[in-house]
Amino acid sequence: MNNEMTLAFDSISENEGFARVAVAAFVTQLDPTLEEVADIKTAVSEAVTNAIIHGYPEGVHTVVIRSRLTDSVVEIWVTDEGVGIENVRRAMEPLYTSRPEQERSGLGFLFMEAFMDEVHVESSPGMGTTVYLRKQIGRREG
Ligand code: ATP
Ligand code: MG
Repeated sequence: MNNEMTLAFDSISENEGFARVAVAAFVTQLDPTLEEVADIKTAVSEAVTNAIIHGYPEGVHTVVIRSRLTDSVVEIWVTDEGVGIENVRRAMEPLYTSRPEQERSGLGFLFMEAFMDEVHVESSPGMGTTVYLRKQIGRREG
């Protein structure tokens, strides 16, 4: 199994649900459990919401999702060309948010890390951010 897709869409909140469902539909090819699908949807949703809210605080711009399926592994890249993150390590700390006044709780990255096997963030101020998510599907234990 080797399959790849790219999605580009406007940075409006209406597209969070679209992105989540689109990735879930793509991943279906790997025959994931409902729980695995739910995990991936949550992680994608958090990454896309971050791109829309934090990456592009002003105006409507493009968010790109790339996904690759190889054997039983799904990899997902969520990219914005927005403001970027100055200190990625601090941003990924549980409960850290740069927007406490917007009722953000600073748990997005924590969820991504909890529901995926791997999370990496590449970002530079003024250039944008790419969040890399990886999960193995079908690791039926026991
Ligand atoms: P929550 O996800 O709980 O609503 P949050 O979005 O603030 O709150 P995280 O998702 O963990 O929390 O993100 C932590 C911080 O990292 C954000 O507050 C923001 O400062 C920064 N950040 C995350 N993604 C991006 C991005 N794509 N572009 C710029 N900054 C980002
Ligand atoms: Mg968030």
